Amino acid sequence: MTLSAAPEWAFSSADGETNYRNACEQYPAQCIVDLAVLRDNMRHLVSVCGGPESGTAVMGVVKADAYGHGLIPAALAALAGGATWLGTAQSHEALLLRKAGIGPDRCHILTWVYNGVNVPFGELIKNDIDISIGSMAGIDLAAAAARAVGKTARVHVKVDSGFGRNGFTEESFDEALKKFVAYAHEGVFHIVGQWSHLAVADSPDVPEFVASTDRQIEHFNAFTARMEKAGIAPEIRHLANTAATLNRPEIHFELTRPGIGLYGYEPDPAMGTPSTWRLKPAMTLQAQLGTVKHIEAGHGISYGRTYLTPDDTSTAIVPIGYADGIHRSASGFDMEGAKHVQKDGGPVRVMTSEGPKLYRVSGRVCMDQFMVDLHGSCSADELDVHEGDTVVLFGPGRGEQFAEPTADDWARAAGTISYEIFTCLRNRIPRLYLHAADVLPPEDLAKLDPATLL
Ligand SMILES: *Cc1c(COP(=O)(O)O)cnc(C)c1O
Repeated sequence: MTLSAAPEWAFSSADGETNYRNACEQYPAQCIVDLAVLRDNMRHLVSVCGGPESGTAVMGVVKADAYGHGLIPAALAALAGGATWLGTAQSHEALLLRKAGIGPDRCHILTWVYNGVNVPFGELIKNDIDISIGSMAGIDLAAAAARAVGKTARVHVKVDSGFGRNGFTEESFDEALKKFVAYAHEGVFHIVGQWSHLAVADSPDVPEFVASTDRQIEHFNAFTARMEKAGIAPEIRHLANTAATLNRPEIHFELTRPGIGLYGYEPDPAMGTPSTWRLKPAMTLQAQLGTVKHIEAGHGISYGRTYLTPDDTSTAIVPIGYADGIHRSASGFDMEGAKHVQKDGGPVRVMTSEGPKLYRVSGRVCMDQFMVDLHGSCSADELDVHEGDTVVLFGPGRGEQFAEPTADDWARAAGTISYEIFTCLRNRIPRLYLHAADVLPPEDLAKLDPATLL
C-alpha cells in the first residue's frame, strides 16, 4: 500500500487516469496545474479592475512558459477568465501563442524583450503582435521591418519611470518622440500605448517604497503629457503589475499586466498570503519517494556531510534535485568551516499512518534527488512511509503550520521568491492539467497535448 500526501485528483475520464499513471511511470515527479483555478484567478483580477465593461482591460502575463505552468494551457485559461491581452517578455513566446492558433480576433499580444538589432520584427508585425520599443536602435529597426512587410506596426512606447531597466529616459525622450511622430505620420507605426514597470509596488508596508511608487507614477504621467503634446497621445497606458493591480486601483489606466496573481500568488509575502487577495495557487508539485531506509545516529547525509543524523532514524529520498529546479539553496543545514549550522531546508508534506506530517530537506540537495530525515529509528515502519509514496513539495495549501507547504515556503527556504521557484522547474517534470474540458471550449482543448489532460 502506498500513501499519498496529495489530494485525491478528480480525473475527468478514464483517459485522464491513464495519463496520470503514465506520467508517474515516466517521471517520479509531476506538476499538476488546475486550469479552473487559473481561470478563476483571472476572473477575479478582471473584477478587481472593474469588470469587462470598466474600460480597463487585463493582460495575462505568460512569459517564461507561463511562469513554468505551460504557455499554451495557461494562456487559454487566462482568456477563458476574461483576459483580452497576453504578454510575453521574449518574442519567440509571443510567436508560439499565435502559432498555436490564438489569433488577433481573440486577443492582443504584446512582447517586450529583444536587443533592437537582431529581432524578428517582421514576423512579429505580420503575426499582429504588438511590439514594445524602448531604445533608439529599436525604433529604426522596427520601422524598417514594418516597411519591408508592408504593414503598420502596433507600437507601445516604453518609458523608464524609475525602474532602471527598459525604456526611454526623460533625457532621451525628445529625440525618440521626433522619430515616433515621423513614423506615425508615415503610417509605419500605429502608436498604441505608453507603458512602464514598477519597482516596489509589492511593498505597501514600507513608506519609502510607497513614495517611490508615487514618484514613478508622476514620471509616467509626465511622459504621457509629452506624448500628447507631440501629437501622439497613447490610446492605452499601462503600468500595473499584480501588486499594483491589487493595491493601486488609481493606476489601472486602460490596461493592467498581472503575472503572478494569475498563477495564484501574491507578489511578496509582505502583502499577506494568496487568500488575503482571494487568489488560489494553481500548481501542485508532487513526487514519489525513492529509497526509504534505517540509518544510525551520527550518519552524514548527502554531499559535504552538512547534516548528521541526530538519532537513529529513517530517511527517505525525494527523487528530484537541482537539475529539476529544486534550489540547492533550499538545502537543510550548512557548514561554516567545520561547524554545522542549523538552517531550515525546503518543506515536504508526507502522508503517514498518523496523518500528514511536514519534513524538511536534510543535507544538500543533489542534482537529481534530495533526502528527508523522518526522525525516529523505526519511524518509516511505524509511520507506514514507503518507497513509492506520493509526497507534496508545494501546492495551494495553507502553509507549513498545516503541513501544507506553498511555493512561498520554498522561496523562504531558498532565499528567493515564488516566481523563481516556478520558473526554475524543468520541463522534464511532466505538466498535467486538471479541469481542461470544464474551462476550455472544444477548439481550445484541441490545442493541448491530450496526454497532459487529467
Ligand atoms: C513580469 C512582468 C509583469 C508581471 O509582473 P507580476 O509581478 O508577476 O504581476 C508585468 N509587466 C512586466 C513588464 C513584466 O516583466
